[in-house]
Amino acid sequence: MNAYMGYDRILGPKQGAILIFAKTSKEAKLISYKMIHSWFSSSWIDVSIKKMDAHHLFKHADQLKLMNNIPHIIDDVEVCYRCQLWGEYEVTDGLCECCRN
Ligand SMILES: [Zn+2]
Repeated sequence: MNAYMGYDRILGPKQGAILIFAKTSKEAKLISYKMIHSWFSSSWIDVSIKKMDAHHLFKHADQLKLMNNIPHIIDDVEVCYRCQLWGEYEVTDGLCECCRN
């Protein structure tokens, strides 16, 4: 399983991004499109899926689904209160590593 970030490419990930666990980016898009569309009325081509090479993201996964290789989405990942992002850097106590330094 890989971790992906799904967001509307016009609005950008700051407006809202979904964490997706899936085997391929295609599968990630399939399972996250409905939610991104419901947030932003995004069209299929405007939904961006970015592969995340950040191991700390796996702690947000549904561990049972992860263990059983069931693709799923997490739509309430904790964001850094300063930059409003999650993903590249681990967020601890409300701040990401980048903003902390
Ligand atoms: Zn930050």
